[in-house]
Amino acid sequence: MTRLLIERCDHVVTVDDAGTELAGASILAEDGVIAWIGTGAPPGEPDERIDGRGTIAIPGLVNTHHHLYQTLTRAWSRDVGLFQWLVALYPVWAHIDEAWERAASRVGLSLLALSGCSTSTDHHYVHPEGAGDLLTVEIESARELGLRFHPCRGSMDLGERDGGLPPDSVVEPTEVVLERSREAVERHHDPTPGSMLRIAIAPCSPFSVTERLMRESTELARSLGVRLHTHLAETLDEERFCIERFGMRPLELMEEWGWLGDDVWFAHSVHLDAKDARRLGETGTSVASCPSSNLRLGAGIAPVRTYLEESVPVGLGVDGPSSNEASDLFGEIRQAMLASRAAGTERGLTAREALRLATRGGADVLGRHDVGSLEVGGRADVALFGVDGLDHAGTAADPVAGLLMGEARRVRHLIVEGRAVVRDGHLVNADEDEIAREGHREGRRIVEAFG
Ligand SMILES: [Zn+2]
Repeated sequence: MTRLLIERCDHVVTVDDAGTELAGASILAEDGVIAWIGTGAPPGEPDERIDGRGTIAIPGLVNTHHHLYQTLTRAWSRDVGLFQWLVALYPVWAHIDEAWERAASRVGLSLLALSGCSTSTDHHYVHPEGAGDLLTVEIESARELGLRFHPCRGSMDLGERDGGLPPDSVVEPTEVVLERSREAVERHHDPTPGSMLRIAIAPCSPFSVTERLMRESTELARSLGVRLHTHLAETLDEERFCIERFGMRPLELMEEWGWLGDDVWFAHSVHLDAKDARRLGETGTSVASCPSSNLRLGAGIAPVRTYLEESVPVGLGVDGPSSNEASDLFGEIRQAMLASRAAGTERGLTAREALRLATRGGADVLGRHDVGSLEVGGRADVALFGVDGLDHAGTAADPVAGLLMGEARRVRHLIVEGRAVVRDGHLVNADEDEIAREGHREGRRIVEAFG
């Protein structure tokens, strides 16, 4: 048995049902599971110790929406809305290959880990013919770094020729998508408790996918026991597209196609109304809210308070780095709180509510009940942020709120499944400088070849 003791944290924010926060507490992990949390002496002798003094421990963060491949097309198409942004970038993304995906996923997942994220999804929907096995490449990156990973086998099968937005060169035939999605689940998906790897099936969006693929994806995912993900109601352009093409608003269309249920999560859901929110809550359908991306693309602000009132599970996501140059999930906590207050503080989120979205909420969205909180019996995924430096001087009135409402430049330590992934602000399992060099080299190659 491997026993890791995180000793004497200034505060442990458990994010349990009661919102328990303990001052001067320690956490003992045994074989990847939290065995004890308390303020006294832990039982037995640990094999390894981490000094928690000067830190606040929170559950490892859970990222519910991302497109890792976009890490190498940051700072492109900078000042336009979603549809123009997509039309500018699709022809660049059409050149993706395994070297691109490897560099992008290593940089992107490293940045997530350094922001305190222990579990991430990825929505990879660009699979041009001959690009290679991009899903397996990013799975290897997550394994190398030591992160819990829930990648989606994404897809697009509605090209320009058939009235879709993406060019025909980046879409796949419907049959091929369904077959490769099945293969991805059979090859990689691990449903067991404490799983480090689960697959979801994720057609991209109403304007890049056929009705047939949307309908058959639900049948396939449900027969395999995996979750379903797609973009929904990100912009008003999308709403207009759905009304013109199908005579229905986005959520009505999803209901028509069998896409409501507790095994489904939608990215964004900015433009849904109170009736839609009630329907999400009634069906247990989840939302991955990505406030920085929504603001960057001028899409709007998701009605998160309304979703919470309707018992909709809500998590946070950084979204793809082409529409949020930072892969900083900790930063999304503050961003979610600030965005929710744009119309006043009355219905805005508190800092602790925003933290709950990034932890418990995200775990619910991904269908995980063993991560997202610090409780005995749960997986030992812990993020420790230093609060003893310049950034947090003067936050003694409420150090937890001071951390969440301010800025955390890097996690000090990140533990995933009882093992250190970040120690003293640096990756444990990979060389950050080498990953950076690879990312810069590949990013320059893309600009020179396709910019
Ligand atoms: Zn997205």
